[in-house]
Amino acid sequence: TVLSAAEGRVSRIGVMGGTFDPVHHGHLVAASEVAARFDLDEVVFVPTGQPSFKQDTAVTEAEHRYLMTVIATASNPRFTVSRVDVEREGLTYTVDTLRDLKAERPDADLFFITGADAIAQILTWKDAGELFDMARFVAVTRPGHALSVAGLPEGRVDVLEIPALSISSTDVRARAGAGEPVWYLVPDGVVQYIAKHRLYRGPHE
Ligand code: ATP
Ligand code: MG
Repeated sequence: TVLSAAEGRVSRIGVMGGTFDPVHHGHLVAASEVAARFDLDEVVFVPTGQPSFKQDTAVTEAEHRYLMTVIATASNPRFTVSRVDVEREGLTYTVDTLRDLKAERPDADLFFITGADAIAQILTWKDAGELFDMARFVAVTRPGHALSVAGLPEGRVDVLEIPALSISSTDVRARAGAGEPVWYLVPDGVVQYIAKHRLYRGPHE
């Protein structure tokens, strides 16, 4: 931001990667909490292209997921949405996401925000060693997922307890498919977007 440039402070940017199929209040609370706790100037939400670990499941068209994320974050002046993963060909790997964001903002400190379920797999990610040089990692607790940080590099992963919201995109899709309400699990604009485009109505897992 202009202010932090004037202060000569390096800007601190959170990176919230996800499938966001659809984005829900668990994602938004996690981003908001990490932003407050780590004094972030901005949190960039990055909807995946085809996620490498979800190759077997059908994922909604990237453009829908991207637009729902824009709708959900639009009212927060510190939240933005990036198209780097949506526009990159092939599977999405976190190392590529961080490289692209780093290229756009070479002077920023990046904080990669991820749930307890994802951090457990982190050492199996592509170029895992390099990841920790590119960003600090913030693992947020999430109901139903034990946090196992054994084996992670010291000092590069912070663990943050956030208010427990037992919401998942899987559950939101199932509810929408069954004609059950999704109000208050996702932002109002996302409820309306899902209805308008009849998302999650077909056969789903
Ligand atoms: P799905 O059920 O399809 O896997 P999801 O709800 O897990 O969707 P993702 O897009 O996979 O959502 O999650 C993106 C990131 O947000 C992940 O790091 C995940 O751990 C985290 N996350 C998801 N839901 C919550 C929640 N309720 N509280 C905290 N973090 C969450
Ligand atoms: Mg998930």
